[in-house]
Amino acid sequence: MGYLVHWFGLLHTWVFETLVQPAMFAIGVMHYVEEAYLGTELALVGGIQVLVMIAVFRPLEALTAIEPRIDRHAIRTDVLYTLLAKLGVLPTLFFFLLLPLEGLIDGALHGMGVVRPTLETLFPLLDADPVLAFFAYLVILDLFGYWIHRMQHRFDWWWALHALHHSQRQMTFWTDNRNHVLDDLIVALATALFVRAIGVPPGQFIALAAFAVLIENLSHADTRLWFGRVGERLLVSPRFHRWHHAVGDGHEGHCRGINFGALFPFWDMLFGTADFRDGAPATGIRDQARGVDYGRGWWAQQFLGFRRFFAALAPRSLLARGRQLS
Ligand SMILES: [Zn+2]
Ligand SMILES: [Zn+2]
Repeated sequence: MGYLVHWFGLLHTWVFETLVQPAMFAIGVMHYVEEAYLGTELALVGGIQVLVMIAVFRPLEALTAIEPRIDRHAIRTDVLYTLLAKLGVLPTLFFFLLLPLEGLIDGALHGMGVVRPTLETLFPLLDADPVLAFFAYLVILDLFGYWIHRMQHRFDWWWALHALHHSQRQMTFWTDNRNHVLDDLIVALATALFVRAIGVPPGQFIALAAFAVLIENLSHADTRLWFGRVGERLLVSPRFHRWHHAVGDGHEGHCRGINFGALFPFWDMLFGTADFRDGAPATGIRDQARGVDYGRGWWAQQFLGFRRFFAALAPRSLLARGRQLS
């Protein structure tokens, strides 16, 4: 492991010094050098993740596929989402939007004399055991993610955006990143604030995110893989998450969906939304069968997402008037 970290460090420095730094110098933004160094690290971690996904998940899908690949265009769009998220958009958003915002909040808190407690100061046991601390953060972040996801289904305006993630009817491991940019931004912002509030150390956070993301990518894979009767209840599997994407079950009912957990199924068990059924349901959203269009390419999907979003926010009287006019 230490060997890998060493090589990664060399690669990181090399890429930064030969590619990023000269480019920054050329366009005169050297004062962001620290952010860019960390941004380069995130993009490199993202690149390595993509390589691992292709090397491991693609053969898995080829060997244990649920359905034939009839819509390759839809898969290519998801590949684009993944590359954008891992190599560009997310690291950039993170560093140029979230960090300054956090700086403002930190400054304000500092001004008020508030010292934020971290998990380690609350539970000294965690300070002594980094592995335990890693799992504690993972579990807490996953609980936070569970409730964010419940709200993405609960509020009409948020579902208007999140529906894009559910509209894929040809699911593969690339589908994980198929999200509306505004949805990504809101979730990233909420997560960053939460991460700061509980005081996750930055180094820890990159490791946490890298682990979480691989499990989340796997859970979208087109594979019959499941983890056995006990394993299914310990870690989210492709079978478990496919039911979250099922036409009908995935977005209807009392909680407007089932199996919301991203890493651990026990939040769904605890809050009554778990469904450990066998089988491989068709994925998508009910109204797609009635011809509702969620778009084919990236631009169309983003545009239609914004349109649903503003329609969900518009006062009902306006909508009613719109209907009268048309
Ligand atoms: Zn969902
Ligand atoms: Zn999903």
